Amino acid sequence: MNIYDSTRMLDILRPLGYLPVHAQDDADLLILNTCHIREKAAEKVYSELGLVRQLKNAKARRGDHMIVAVGGCVAQAEGAEVLRRAPFVDLVFGPQSYHLLPELIGRALRRAGGGVLATDFPVEPKFDHLPEPSVQQGVTAFLTVQEGCDKFCSFCVVPYTRGAEYSRPVAEVLAEARRAVASGVREITLLGQNVNAYHGKGPDGRPCGLGGLVRGLACLPGLGRIRYTTSHPQDVDDELIAAHRDVPELMPYIHLPVQSGSDRILVAMNRRHTAGAYRRIVERLRLACPDLALSSDFIVGFPGESDGDFQATLDLVDEIGFAQAYSFKYSQRLGTPAASAADQIPERVKSDRLAALQLALDKQKRQFNEACIGKVLTVLLEKPGRHDGQMVGRSPYLQSIHVAAAAERIGEIVSALITDASANSLSGSLAEAVGA
Ligand code: SF4
Repeated sequence: MNIYDSTRMLDILRPLGYLPVHAQDDADLLILNTCHIREKAAEKVYSELGLVRQLKNAKARRGDHMIVAVGGCVAQAEGAEVLRRAPFVDLVFGPQSYHLLPELIGRALRRAGGGVLATDFPVEPKFDHLPEPSVQQGVTAFLTVQEGCDKFCSFCVVPYTRGAEYSRPVAEVLAEARRAVASGVREITLLGQNVNAYHGKGPDGRPCGLGGLVRGLACLPGLGRIRYTTSHPQDVDDELIAAHRDVPELMPYIHLPVQSGSDRILVAMNRRHTAGAYRRIVERLRLACPDLALSSDFIVGFPGESDGDFQATLDLVDEIGFAQAYSFKYSQRLGTPAASAADQIPERVKSDRLAALQLALDKQKRQFNEACIGKVLTVLLEKPGRHDGQMVGRSPYLQSIHVAAAAERIGEIVSALITDASANSLSGSLAEAVGA
């Protein structure tokens, strides 16, 4: 989502004369678009800002001015603290304020009362004020359809940094998708912190769910593939399951975070689903789309997690079978309820559990990739590979596939016979073109 947001920031800055530069040193305006998900996110931003300060000072010695801005979720979470710890920063703005950048930069240039802080949640959604997205550069594109979250999982900062759930109207999403397809995009990934909570205003004025939106997008001529991320189990509804059954353009892949296999921990996490409910959703999805590949997120060492709770997570992994997954040690996020829980888990225990979980997940990933050998999979050719005459694309299940193909075939969806698999990618030979 930060990649998408950065491109939209560029769209809004371009009319002011700003263009991207390759070296930070050449920049008149430097924006750090920050993410709060990673561990010690704020400290990493402050350490990066130390380098930026040197850059800004060096430019000032040469008589050049550089505006320094910090945007994104760390900016939202830290707010005035950024200006206190790094007073040379001219502007701090949250992820819901970047449509105001022209005005904010004007204020930052005047800098009458110190650095500018813009972390309020605006009454009007930013999407109403953003210019049309610029022409896409590649054959795949991200498209934000939903932002924010009302779930308040007890470990997560998103509801505080991105605000309440908001869904863009269907017509607006279709118009942006149409423009992307006209500029050569063949695959669109719909983005949202809670993308399947999507409930944008439909053409009939009534709310439309993600399943309906996917069906609408699938009608766009030239759009070969649709993906979406990230989903919450509670919001997987009949309509979305039916879309996985009926819409060939919707890729048979879902990233569906479960976080833990223990109901006790899921309650403490305020996840609003049980391990049993998760199993039932997966069962229904697989019934609708038998070749569906699953990906998930896991947190180990959540406060109060016992050996038994962790074993329940391993059991769930064993039972479901994931094509791939992201797993992390629990880390405290200031301001979230779990951060102040008394029963924090020792670091060593967290590390041991993470290693055991990753061993199981890596094994499943390898098995999933190896099971593809001998199959014919479609590949959207995206870019040249590392070797001459080689192209790289993605399978329906999001694996990278290397094939021998000419560079002018970028953008084609072709069939490849998979001949080899490694932990992270597949290789194969071209079978036939199935769409251009
Ligand atoms: S549903 Fe996802 S984004 Fe929302 S609070 Fe929970 S983890 Fe965060």
